[in-house]
Amino acid sequence: MGKFPANESETVEFKTSFNVETIDIMQKRIAILGSTGSIGTQALEVISEHSESFAVETLTANNNAELLIEQALRFQPDTVVIANENLYSQVSDSLKDYPIKVYAGNKALEQIVSQSNIDIVLNALVGYSGLIPTIRAIEAGKIIALANKETLVVAGELVMNLAVQHSVPIIPVDSEHSAIFQCLSGEFAPIDRIYLTASGGPFLNFPVEKLATVTKEDALKHPRWEMGAKITIDSATMMNKGFEVIEAHWLFATPDDDIKVLVHPQSIIHSMVQFKDGAIKAQLGEPSMKVPIQYALTYPDRVECNVKRVNFADYQALTFAEPDFGKFPCLDIAYKALRAGGTVPCTMNAANEVAVQAFLNEKIRYTDIYALISETIDAINKIDKPSLNDYIETDRISRLKADEILKVLTGRL
Ligand code: MN
Repeated sequence: MGKFPANESETVEFKTSFNVETIDIMQKRIAILGSTGSIGTQALEVISEHSESFAVETLTANNNAELLIEQALRFQPDTVVIANENLYSQVSDSLKDYPIKVYAGNKALEQIVSQSNIDIVLNALVGYSGLIPTIRAIEAGKIIALANKETLVVAGELVMNLAVQHSVPIIPVDSEHSAIFQCLSGEFAPIDRIYLTASGGPFLNFPVEKLATVTKEDALKHPRWEMGAKITIDSATMMNKGFEVIEAHWLFATPDDDIKVLVHPQSIIHSMVQFKDGAIKAQLGEPSMKVPIQYALTYPDRVECNVKRVNFADYQALTFAEPDFGKFPCLDIAYKALRAGGTVPCTMNAANEVAVQAFLNEKIRYTDIYALISETIDAINKIDKPSLNDYIETDRISRLKADEILKVLTGRL
């Protein structure tokens, strides 16, 4: 088992096609970055349901020491990392009777991915913090199961070039991109168009003039998907879908004009690919992150997954609509940032992280999220062909600028 890819005919032909070394192992050894979050906990569920196929080598968390300890006791990894250094002694004291190495700090998190006992790095970190660990894992030749879309939003060109250079596959965990990846399995023909489906989030049918007064609780009520707070707010603004357009652009080497967002409130079709002969392939299922997480870990195999099956008779109709770019300007600005290129998407991401945090802290209104992002992009110089240091510096100064603009915005309230 576990040939990767299983045979020639399963090699997916992207411009960024990977040359994967065959791994033929009984158990795939996994590092989960962000094991206490929504993706991380579901990944551990998948792994525990197929414990013969996987060994958990590394678990990392930012602040949730209690759950990290509980997971470590249950899965007995080789190593755990708690990013918040203040929580080191709590974690190490609790695990002192076990042969589990405990490290703390962001540097440890970045370095841990290159350990020789790891085959697959599942990056389930939230936000910009996922970038450097992804890069270090690629440099160490690990298979990347990528749930951290900001890696590709911020530095897609650099990351994909690095992956090709190191012959490292990046397997998407994001449900839409997993769907596209599944549609491309067995295909050699170039992509004619990608249909990236979007549920539309909680404000799809909400009057646009009332959006300024929605609360954090309103925005956190996603109709179809259970996710962490940051991505749920990104879904409410549709910035998440904008990020996913950029992610698809880099993963599948597809121009922005050929990536169409399609509002599909039932979220049964997880995305579609149209080929040059007009044929369209779609991947369907009830919304569940377990399927794309599991597929990324078992690829190219499929194994049992205990999720609800679609009963088509439950759905009188699957509906589709064009997105409303006027009502969801964050989707529009993401396309513009992608077209502008260079460090513009990096600045957009940094400003978005500042804005979402401010909204969650109830410092700004929902509609200020877009304003803050837009003003920050206008204020920061773009760098073409950025190096990693250019991205790091752009992220830093963009956050400072966004904080400044935030002060003005909150002064106004
Ligand atoms: Mn998604």
